[in-house]
Amino acid sequence: MKNNLVPDIMFDNIYDVTPELLKDIGIRGLVLDIDNTLVPYSEPIANRKLTEHLRKIESSGIQITLVSNNNLERVKKFNDCFGYYAQHNAGKPSSRCVRGCITHMKLNREEVLFVGDQIFTDCLSAHRAGVRCIIVKPIQPKENLFFNFKRTLEKPFITIYKNKRR
Ligand SMILES: [Mg+2]
Repeated sequence: MKNNLVPDIMFDNIYDVTPELLKDIGIRGLVLDIDNTLVPYSEPIANRKLTEHLRKIESSGIQITLVSNNNLERVKKFNDCFGYYAQHNAGKPSSRCVRGCITHMKLNREEVLFVGDQIFTDCLSAHRAGVRCIIVKPIQPKENLFFNFKRTLEKPFITIYKNKRR
């Protein structure tokens, strides 16, 4: 049985998610988390490297959508230069936002991939919607007790992922 909390792939960062890889695994649409997946919390907009990377993915024919539990202002500002279909206050780990993206892209869930940095929100909402999930390392881990606690809880699922790959 598939464990909803175990990522399908783990990478260092978003730049490991290349158009070539996506095509290889049959992906035609992406659902992307913003905070700590694409940019740190403190960064309102994408830098040049990220912008070029996302454009490269787009120009290979892969659709991009955004889902964030952050507010409208944050998402709107980040998305201003892209104009992607985006959901703010997305309510992850609910799968509703992911299902919304799948419908918007007019794809089957097998053709969609979620990329995020958190197991209990991103990975869970993706798997609940029946889409595969890549978890990347958070760009700038928040240094507070609650965040460290969440990271500790994630560890067993990362271990399962690593063991499965052996
Ligand atoms: Mg995040």
